[in-house]
Amino acid sequence: MKLSDFDIDFIKFKNEKDQFHFEMNNKFFGLKENSLYHSGDIDVAVTCERNENTISVDYVLNGMVTGECERCLDDIELEVKITHNELIKLTPNDSLLTEENYISIHHPVYNVYDTLYEQVCIHMPLRKICENSTKKQECKIDHHLSTSTDEPIEDERWAQLKKIIK
Ligand SMILES: [Zn+2]
Repeated sequence: MKLSDFDIDFIKFKNEKDQFHFEMNNKFFGLKENSLYHSGDIDVAVTCERNENTISVDYVLNGMVTGECERCLDDIELEVKITHNELIKLTPNDSLLTEENYISIHHPVYNVYDTLYEQVCIHMPLRKICENSTKKQECKIDHHLSTSTDEPIEDERWAQLKKIIK
């Protein structure tokens, strides 16, 4: 997987409306330097509709990213369910190309990688903790401290933790 895999080339764009599919997985996040996420599995459908000099781009993201709970450091999955729209403008004016959402009418290629990455970051819960994850349970560590358990394995861990505290 490489960045250019996320190019949508509008030269090949024959229909007025077309749909493209992408996958955001571990390799996707690996392409980003200092990525906030390292693994996930998200299906992406991008529907583009071209008008005279604009292209409407509709994103639908469905899946999950995995991470570490900020409180108990347990592995958690965070649900991703996002819809987003952006308007791309085609321009013959080179000086406009440095601005966001402008692409050259002579080289109408738009890369959706950054938009996809940003959308996931924007829509994640403020606190990445167990309660906000797909398991929707309180952190195990809190559970241990507040209640006793009869499971032997849990008891053993609890005993070891007690030793450390002493
Ligand atoms: Zn937790």
